[in-house]
Amino acid sequence: MAAQDTVDHKYVYDFAEGNKDLKDLLGGKGANLAEMTNLGLPVPPGFTITTEACKAYLATGREPDGLAGQIQAHLESLEREMGRRLGDPGDPLLVSVRSGAKFSMPGMMETVLNVGLNDRSVVGLSAQAGGNDRFAWDSYRRLIQMFGKTVCDVPGEEFEQALEDAKRAKGTKNDLDLDADDLRGLVDAYKRIFAKHTGREFPQEPREQLDLAIRAVFESWNAERAVVYRRQERIPADLGTAVNVVTMVFGNLGPDSGTGVAFTRDPASGAQGIYGDYLANAQGEDVVAGIRNTVPLQELERIDKKSYDELLGYMARLEGHYKDLCDIEFTIERGKLWMLQTRVGKRTAAAAFVIAAQLVDEGLIDLDEALHRVNGAQLAQLMFPRFQLDHEFQPVAKGVGASPGAASGKVVFTSARAVELAAEGEAVILVRRETNPDDLNGMIAARGILTSRGGKTSHAAVVARGMGKTCVAGADELDVDVPAKRFTVGGHTVGEGDVVSIDGTTGKVYLGEVPVTPSEVVQYFEGTLDPERTDDALVEAVHRIMTHADGRRRLAVRTNADTGADAARARRFGAQGIGLCRTEHMFLGDRRELVERLILARTDDEREAALAALLPLQRDDFVEIFREMDGLPVTVRLIDPPLHEFLPPLEQLAVNVAVAQERGEDVAREEALLAAVRRMHEENPMLGLRGVRLGLVIPGLFAMQVRAITEAAVRITRDGGSACPEIMVPLVGAVQELETVRAEAEKIIEEVVGDSGVEVLIGTMIEVPRAALTAGQIAEAAQFFSFGTNDLTQMGWGFSRDDVEAAFFWRYLELGIFGISPFESIDREGVGRLVRIAAEEGRAARPELKLGVCGEHGGDPDSVHFFHEVGLDYVSCSPFRVPVARLEAGRAAIETTGSDSR
Ligand code: ADP
Ligand code: MG
Ligand code: MG
Repeated sequence: MAAQDTVDHKYVYDFAEGNKDLKDLLGGKGANLAEMTNLGLPVPPGFTITTEACKAYLATGREPDGLAGQIQAHLESLEREMGRRLGDPGDPLLVSVRSGAKFSMPGMMETVLNVGLNDRSVVGLSAQAGGNDRFAWDSYRRLIQMFGKTVCDVPGEEFEQALEDAKRAKGTKNDLDLDADDLRGLVDAYKRIFAKHTGREFPQEPREQLDLAIRAVFESWNAERAVVYRRQERIPADLGTAVNVVTMVFGNLGPDSGTGVAFTRDPASGAQGIYGDYLANAQGEDVVAGIRNTVPLQELERIDKKSYDELLGYMARLEGHYKDLCDIEFTIERGKLWMLQTRVGKRTAAAAFVIAAQLVDEGLIDLDEALHRVNGAQLAQLMFPRFQLDHEFQPVAKGVGASPGAASGKVVFTSARAVELAAEGEAVILVRRETNPDDLNGMIAARGILTSRGGKTSHAAVVARGMGKTCVAGADELDVDVPAKRFTVGGHTVGEGDVVSIDGTTGKVYLGEVPVTPSEVVQYFEGTLDPERTDDALVEAVHRIMTHADGRRRLAVRTNADTGADAARARRFGAQGIGLCRTEHMFLGDRRELVERLILARTDDEREAALAALLPLQRDDFVEIFREMDGLPVTVRLIDPPLHEFLPPLEQLAVNVAVAQERGEDVAREEALLAAVRRMHEENPMLGLRGVRLGLVIPGLFAMQVRAITEAAVRITRDGGSACPEIMVPLVGAVQELETVRAEAEKIIEEVVGDSGVEVLIGTMIEVPRAALTAGQIAEAAQFFSFGTNDLTQMGWGFSRDDVEAAFFWRYLELGIFGISPFESIDREGVGRLVRIAAEEGRAARPELKLGVCGEHGGDPDSVHFFHEVGLDYVSCSPFRVPVARLEAGRAAIETTGSDSR
């Protein structure tokens, strides 16, 4: 940013100046507070400091020029509006200082309430509240506690301990029994704790409190747990957070006050209705922290009907306005309702589909928008198996089904232990009373999360849903004793390492490992569940949205399948052909012996005999696959791996030879094999004698495969079927390689096809960078290209996948060299560029050239969008990813920009 415009740069926006589309600048919370303000909803007045101010602060370590003055101006105007001054001793204005980034990061960053209270204004606050001393001192002690913990890093436990001590001295377990004098004493204790840890007195100057709190929110962007969360959720690290300064309203003024959270639909199932929790006589943090037990929101109707009706009215309005599920935070101060936050709410994968379909029915959105609102990762989650329950398994407890899925694993009680055991490859279930942001690493490592307290809106529930991790929350029959590493439930004691199973849909908890069964969505794809007949809202929603995606997409979706069984399943899942049929497995099992004969052949006759024996076996394999894929294209890749992969390992052969010699047996065959393995040894087999190179070096090998493929196709056709083989030559780097193979293949094809009418295409993989760069030449000899993006990534980056993933990818991810492994999602700028060049130059040379991709990227949502943009004809992926690719191809077709599905 140029120096001269920093002077005038606008860093602070009044709520009335913003709107919901300014999330980049104002963060989600600030943008939505502005939107609600402009809709005329009762939002306490305030202003937002932009993410740009935060970024400037984080870059330079100090507040940017002009920020202090702008804050002052907005504060003064807020003070005029409210008729009170910040921290005024007689009649103080108090504010909250709240973080809020573009993407919601629940509980990850800081908020400080009651800023502006000090030894003098606490008296004024009491007067404002009609002489309610208890309330005023309770608010003050909360400020010192939150400010101490979040702004000055004072250990939170010390404040909690002091609170416990005060309650014990009073002989009570309930905060509400502490009176004004007790709380005044607690404030003194808190101040001592504050001074001990910070070396200074608790700041009495209101503006200093405000500035320090703002700075702490800026800094919380880089707190470790926020960094971990962003990495997990793939939120960019450079967005920064906005800071919202909001006039305080009080839910802790007595029984006619309170605070709550609400959802306009059930975020777990998507069902319509009113969902939420309410807590009387409390400040907002008490609900979110799950510290006290809340009542269902419906009870508010009885407690305060006027506020309840008003709230329902606003919820309906917000849903109509955002045209989506909204979640809401609100506070009631002495019968007056205030809206403190709203956003388009997080939801489970199932709820995403169900809600999208409902909103279409309600006429709020169209099917394109519904398709845009779901994604392949969610669909993949819905294809996870469920528990298979029969009479043997009785639940021992039932909590809230907070995030769906079925998870079994060993019980652990701490985040650290979860990480340890998971690193050893164990499935673990993290069991806590409730979770907090410090448990994040353990939550990531665990298969599932089980808590004994809190509901759908607790930290555990919100974070688990965001990660798509199974979670049961608030299973209150569980008595969890973390220090003793055990919990008890209904007479059972469960210790660390014991296995439990949790069902995040029903909320049920089982002892031991419960077996699993396919999900309804998989049954629907398999064709065993009829979407027209079921009353399962999820299956219906998936069916409608998938049908729409199929209607919209331009990319075809094929599958990678090597056997008839895989081919049949993939076809049920919607595959429109096979994009990669590997022939390697056809050389395994009892056929190894034939391969050995081929390798050991000393004369042409011996080699030809070995090949002739392989021919009918291969032909039968192809017949089976062509039959399953009747009428659809099948791309068969000629043999690709180095032949020594089919021989036993060197060490084993050496031992065999030694043992046989010892026994005086005939070792001629073993010795020949050993010599062959030695001869064929390669330092870098990945870059050695494989793919097309084999075909050019071993006479008759490719010819045998071409013959088997063509004969199988002819047989299918003669039987009244239709086979459409596409022969694919792997690892081509130069057009001459392909031309040589093709000349030989065409002769065989012509001879075998005869008058059967079968048509066989010949094409190549593009997986060597040189092939991508000379695609124009190669296209002269190829009828199709299929991008082998695994090898293209290996050779493009110069990594060997098997070696590098475990060795250093973690470090590259940590350093941000990549945001995600390039084997998982295509590297658009590098490897993707090779794909783009090859597609463009290949098409220029041969306009009817068919283009597809058969690497694992074919089933990765983000990569599918890229392949759509580059103009490929199809993607091919494993059978289970086929529905995901169909959905994402549909989404890619309706989206002009990227795939920001968050
Ligand atoms: P988070 O992003 O973690 O939800 P928030 O900024 O929303 O943090 O604040 C934490 C809690 O404090 C919420 O329950 C919120 O409703 C409450 N809160 C924030 N600002 C105010 C305010 N001005 N008056 C009353 N309660 C507030
Ligand atoms: Mg909030
Ligand atoms: Mg390859």
